[in-house]
Amino acid sequence: MNMDAVDLVKDAPADPQEALAAALFRPMGVDGVYARTGVYENVVERLAALITRHRPEDAEVLRFPPVMSRRDLEKSGYLNSFPNLLGCVCALHGSVADIQDAVRRFEAGGSWTTSLSPADLVLSPAACYPVYPLAAARGAMPRGGWRFDIACDCFRHEPSRDLDRLQSFRMREFVCIGQPDDILAFRTRWIERGRELAAALGLDADIAPANDPFFGREGRMKAVSQIQQALKFELLVPIHSAERPTACMSFNYHRDHFGTTWGIHDEDGAVAHTGCVAFGMDRLAVAMFARHGVDIGGWPRAVRELLGL
Ligand code: ATP
Ligand code: ZN
Ligand code: MG
Repeated sequence: MNMDAVDLVKDAPADPQEALAAALFRPMGVDGVYARTGVYENVVERLAALITRHRPEDAEVLRFPPVMSRRDLEKSGYLNSFPNLLGCVCALHGSVADIQDAVRRFEAGGSWTTSLSPADLVLSPAACYPVYPLAAARGAMPRGGWRFDIACDCFRHEPSRDLDRLQSFRMREFVCIGQPDDILAFRTRWIERGRELAAALGLDADIAPANDPFFGREGRMKAVSQIQQALKFELLVPIHSAERPTACMSFNYHRDHFGTTWGIHDEDGAVAHTGCVAFGMDRLAVAMFARHGVDIGGWPRAVRELLGL
């Protein structure tokens, strides 16, 4: 071994997470919030393009900003289920004098944040919440329902040092609004396609029934009922370990929850059912680097060809 090689080994982070972090992210001072390197972002873009090639033919494309109406999210029932994860936009709302006071307090070493009050916005915790009120406003659902291709930068207040649990991350979704049979067929098709996509990407994935992380003691009951009713499945990839695999996609059936909440129905008045497949874009990208290494040149040829790398 020459001296350069010795230096390389000495400088290389011992922990595989640290090696991944060094190649993919730059710190921004808060756990779970990172600047993304060009190498990483290129893979995110190639994965997004691959998913686009599988977009349902009749899907309408919408890209949402990272914030949404607070009132709409409240009406969706989010606070009943995941109040601990929600981030709310706050601003200084008072008079000019009130705002100046807050700034002066800060400049004198005190706190300005005690003057904040909530704005009309929350940080979107998932991509699909804004799509249901938007569909409802269109009037009666046409025969065959609606399909959407949506994406959003999402926020969840779950700080962690794990690279697969971010506070700010990208979610892509295909959403299906229609009759119960439409949603179940859509979801079955996507569970199969998700499995095929993961295999083509060289990921060692499993599909498993899952529950959302409902908050509090009542949440435990909701989670059990969600599993019993087979409402959620996840595509799990062993990023850290086989015992504790990471959900990189989820396949969700909401039954009539959003249809009833927003009054979405067909011409005969039957309430719409909804479902979605969600792709965790950052988790998928991290999974690719964890599986195949940080040097894309060393990835299997078939995987590089699939992604156009
Ligand atoms: P988990 O159980 O791992 O917290 P979840 O059930 O909360 O996941 P969903 O609500 O189904 O996740 O979100 C859809 C997808 O978004 C997940 O399958 C995952 O790929 C991604 N995702 C969710 N939370 C995070 C996060 N904190 N960081 C990165 N990606 C995430
Ligand atoms: Zn969704
Ligand atoms: Mg979660």
